[in-house]
Amino acid sequence: MAFVITSPCKDEKAGECMTVCPVDCIVEGPDQFYIDPDVCIDCGACKAVCPVDAIEEEYDLSPEQEVYLEKAEAFFSR
Ligand code: SF4
Repeated sequence: MAFVITSPCKDEKAGECMTVCPVDCIVEGPDQFYIDPDVCIDCGACKAVCPVDAIEEEYDLSPEQEVYLEKAEAFFSR
């Protein structure tokens, strides 16, 4: 289980999430921030501070947002 950063982060990239993550698993990508799903400990700290409400729990993703989990997995497998 992991938290996932979704579409509101694109072109926003506020970055508060990075400063609060206790395991440093949030990385800035070219278009948005990404959470490493293999490292995230599901604490929810990032979701609480995101100003654009872009962060969702993996199991709460809507069908349109599922692609953001796939994007994160692809980002960290590079
Ligand atoms: Fe980091 Fe916690 Fe957010 Fe996972 S839920 S990305 S561990 S702040």
